[in-house]
Amino acid sequence: MTRIAVVGAGAAGLGAAYALRETDAEVTVFERRESVGGRAATRRRDDCVYDVGANYCKDDDERVSRLVSEELADGLVEAEGPVWTFDADGEISKGRGDDARKWTYREGLASLGERLRDAGGATVRTGTEVTGLAREDDEWRVEYESADDALAAGDARADALVLTPPAPATAYLLDRADWDDPLREDLVEAAADVPYRTLLSVALHYPERTDLPYYGLVNADKDHELGWVSREECKPGHVPDGESLLVVQPSPGWSRHRYDDADDEIAVQAADLTAELLDDPDRYQFDWADVVRWRDALPDGGADARLLGRGERSDLFFAGDWVAGEGRVHAALASGLETGERVAERF
Ligand SMILES: Cc1cc2nc3c(=O)[nH]c(=O)nc-3n(C[C@H](O)[C@H](O)[C@H](O)COP(=O)(O)OP(=O)(O)OC[C@H]3O[C@@H](n4cnc5c(N)ncnc54)[C@H](O)[C@@H]3O)c2cc1C
Repeated sequence: MTRIAVVGAGAAGLGAAYALRETDAEVTVFERRESVGGRAATRRRDDCVYDVGANYCKDDDERVSRLVSEELADGLVEAEGPVWTFDADGEISKGRGDDARKWTYREGLASLGERLRDAGGATVRTGTEVTGLAREDDEWRVEYESADDALAAGDARADALVLTPPAPATAYLLDRADWDDPLREDLVEAAADVPYRTLLSVALHYPERTDLPYYGLVNADKDHELGWVSREECKPGHVPDGESLLVVQPSPGWSRHRYDDADDEIAVQAADLTAELLDDPDRYQFDWADVVRWRDALPDGGADARLLGRGERSDLFFAGDWVAGEGRVHAALASGLETGERVAERF
């Protein structure tokens, strides 16, 4: 039986596993975190559910939209309300005509990963970090370690390998790989060259809610210290009635500069910027906050697809937002589906 190893259980890795569900292949997905979904991540506190990575999955790719709205639809909800814009001076303006649906789940966008995992039927090993790769006798050897139990370390053999971590983590794995082929260095370079934006994501909870005409605000000229502010209460099931939870993403420059600051300092400064932007003094005083750091948050561009495709001669495949060239959940999922299909054709 063909054995396929997938590294990473984000939208791309689980999309690849899903595309292989009807083959005879034995598919194993290795995921370093304890949960699936990758950067489509959700946290919970008190009775609130909030998306701290991707805010939603856009209805922008026909095939992905069909999959999400039909097979993965259990608990699917839409963020209600438009996205408005603001500029460097904090001037807020109405919309930019973008009325595509913005999907999440009642239990948060991480449910997308859970639905994909359940529909794909692969073995998904969470809490298992891939630490080494080797090419031996036309097979891949995948070395792994459990995050919290060194005794669970081991290795697995695979006929095909699909790499889906963000480009810097993929470059790191390939750089250390025991694979005697000049292509290895070219692939390392191609992945390492993909530029990334760093982002902080700050959840700010308030005991009271203000009615506003929009779900989210995006900085259109990329010249404000904030990049994004959205209201989780616009997502059904996320915030108890009467309460408010803002997800604030400062600009990449601000995020990089404050990345190592203490959580409470970041939260206070993000709240101050938000209160000023919304011109609402009640927003200075949140009652709790949660700060999430994404060093490699969003790729600015993609890797050379033809070069990545040369890996297929050695049964090595890639998927992810950086392969698609667009830092979006739907693009990552589409990339995973396409890659999974190419693996299925080959074996
Ligand atoms: C703050 C923020 C806001 C965003 N907002 C939006 C938005 O509103 N809409 C939108 O569409 N997109 C948004 N995005 C982008 C979106 O989240 C990503 O494009 C998408 O989730 C990428 O999916 P992926 O599968 O390619 O990668 P990931 O989701 O990063 O999955 C890769 C997985 O590989 C795992 N991994 C890495 N190394 C190893 C290893 N050695 N061994 C095992 N596992 C490993 C990681 O833990 C991870 O789970 C946002 C991202 C961030 C960070």
